[in-house]
Amino acid sequence: MKFGVITEHQPSEARVALSPASAEQLQKLGHECVIQSGAGAKADFADDVYRDAGVEVLDSAKAVFDAADVVAKVRPPSEEEVEMLREGQTLISFFYPAENEELMKKAAAKGATLIAMDMVPRISRAQKMDALSSMANIAGYRAVIEAANNFGRFLTGQVTAAGKVPPAKILVVGAGVAGLAALGTATSLGAIVRAFDVRPETAEQIESMGAEFLFLDFEDTEGVGEGGYAAPSSPEFREKQLALFREQAPEIDIVITTALIPNREAPELWTEDMVKAMKPGSVIVDLAAEKGGNCKMTVKDEKIVTDNGVTIIGYTDFPSRMAKQSSTLYATNVRHMMADLTPEKDGQIVHDMDDQVIRDSTITHKGEVTWPPPKRENP
Ligand code: NAD
Repeated sequence: MKFGVITEHQPSEARVALSPASAEQLQKLGHECVIQSGAGAKADFADDVYRDAGVEVLDSAKAVFDAADVVAKVRPPSEEEVEMLREGQTLISFFYPAENEELMKKAAAKGATLIAMDMVPRISRAQKMDALSSMANIAGYRAVIEAANNFGRFLTGQVTAAGKVPPAKILVVGAGVAGLAALGTATSLGAIVRAFDVRPETAEQIESMGAEFLFLDFEDTEGVGEGGYAAPSSPEFREKQLALFREQAPEIDIVITTALIPNREAPELWTEDMVKAMKPGSVIVDLAAEKGGNCKMTVKDEKIVTDNGVTIIGYTDFPSRMAKQSSTLYATNVRHMMADLTPEKDGQIVHDMDDQVIRDSTITHKGEVTWPPPKRENP
């Protein structure tokens, strides 16, 4: 089969769904690879690097859609891209079906198969395809780098001939994949790191990474939702949590917020009075900006400085800001999906809807919308 990758249509998106290394692995599975000219340029993969890896470079997205049996990209497809799909063809990308139902129906009507990388079930066997985690890991790392770059002091403490510098104090709110990556990065840069999450099991993870878990005296099951995710907090819990943060605000130099609850607006956890209580020069990076922000002063995709000198960063494209790294990891996630779709390593796609990982990721197949996937008792 032919596997093709196109250039992302948003000018701000620098990632690409094929790396030279993943192309070589795909060929070992028996697939030929094609790519749109220039697709990897912003991720530092020039056309010639792909050619050297055995990839054929084609002139346009249309040429890739015409040639390939499976097309892959990073972001959800545009209307025009869905228009180019044909019966029996497969498209692999992030899709967020709940937000793109019309587009999904259109692809189903065309008889195309859509595989949504954001629907890969978060079970151990599927970790190698878990692009949400590989991208969240990059976002957490980059959030700290971005904060450090906007903070006027060292993160680590120092005693030098020129004076004593205290270590920066960083608070990470939400210790999921991005939060844990952020606190790991922050501790390795020498900051004093504190973290909080509503899921009690995160305490051990936070402490094992050298950070302090901020303890809240409450029922253990309060924040636990389905599938390892968080549930909305009760008003009493929220009040206690805000009181805890209010105490921290005057002392903390950098806050990284990552708190999300599936299918909801991000909870407001860093309130305006907390921002006002922070010292001038402090920095907030709100990784929940895409979902409305954990801080309501956050402006999506922008960096602002408040009247009291606090920088609030609301960028939503952290993985794209490290395009070579994120493309390499995303391309590996996609390549693993292709490996599961090619069980005999003979270049033949077997779309096994009895396989949980393939079933749950498939949102349209054989003319039907197959989203949402069936509920399972033990996912
Ligand atoms: P996410 O992006 O939905 O949420 C980020 C974090 O915010 C979560 O840890 C959540 O508990 C936390 N949060 C929500 N409300 C909060 C509040 N009011 N205060 C503080 N924190 C709050 O989650 P995610 O990072 O995608 O994943 C969360 C969990 O899912 C993981 O830690 C893990 O348990 C599970 N997971 C499993 C796998 C796997 O098995 N393959 C892969 C990825 C994630």
